[in-house]
Amino acid sequence: AAGRVPTLTARHLHARYDGFTALDGVDLDVPHGRITAIVGPNGAGKSTLFHCLAGTHRPSHGQVLLGGRDITRLTAHARTRLGIARTFQQLAVFPSLTVAENVQVGAEQGRVTDAGAAERALRLLGLDGPVRALPAADLPTGTLRRVELARALAGAPRVLLLDEPAAGLDTAEVAALTKVLKALASDGTALLVVEHDLDLVADLADVVHVMTAGRIVASGPPARVLDALGAQEAPA
Ligand code: ADP
Ligand code: MG
Repeated sequence: AAGRVPTLTARHLHARYDGFTALDGVDLDVPHGRITAIVGPNGAGKSTLFHCLAGTHRPSHGQVLLGGRDITRLTAHARTRLGIARTFQQLAVFPSLTVAENVQVGAEQGRVTDAGAAERALRLLGLDGPVRALPAADLPTGTLRRVELARALAGAPRVLLLDEPAAGLDTAEVAALTKVLKALASDGTALLVVEHDLDLVADLADVVHVMTAGRIVASGPPARVLDALGAQEAPA
C-alpha cells in the first residue's frame, strides 16, 4: 500500500434525480493519508456524492478526478480497478456467499489481484476465525459492516469511501473500526467517511465538510466545524 496515493477530487459536481437537484456544485478533495468526513442532515446529498465519486451515479455537470485524471466517464468497475473502493450505507454483501467468499470478490475486483490481500483483510477485520466459513445471510450488522470493509480492502484500494460505516455498531465495534481506519490513513490511504455520529467524526477526521441541500457549507478541522455546528443546532 506504499507509494504515492493520488487525491480524489470532485469539481463543481451537480447531480439530479428527475427534476430534483441533489448536488448543487460540490468541490471536494480527498487527499492521501487523511480521513476526510462529510456530515449533514438526511437528504443533504451525501450518498449521492458517494455515488458520483464511485461511478454509480452520473453527475449532470462537473468532474471527478483521480490524481488529476478525469475519471467522470469511467464505470464503477473501472474506478474500482484504479483503486477506489467503497462500502454502502445499505449493506450490500452477497447473502448466499460465505464471509471469505464475499471478501474474495473484493480481491478479484480491486486494484491488485493478490491472493494474500483477501487473507490480510480478513485478519485485519478479525474475520479470520470460524466466522469466515459462515454464509453472510444471518450475520449481525456489526459483522456485516466488517465484511463490507474487508471486501473493500481486499482489492488494496488507494481511496476508500465509507458511507455510514458505524451505523448499527456497538461501542466496542466503533472503537475497533476507529483503530482500523486510523491505521489505513497512516498507511497512506485516502479515506472519505460519511457519518452521523459526530463524536466519532471528531475523533476520526482530519477535515470535516458540512453538507446541506446539495452544497458544502462549511469545511475545516473537526474541533472548529463541529463546535460551530453544535452552536447552530440547539439540542432538542
Ligand atoms: P443523504 O445521503 O445526505 O441523506 P441522499 O444523497 O441520499 O442524501 O439524497 C439526497 C436527495 O436526493 C434527497 O432529497 C433524496 O430524497 C433524493 N434522492 C436520493 N436518491 C434518489 C433516487 N434514487 N431517486 C430520487 N431521489 C433521490
Ligand atoms: Mg445517505
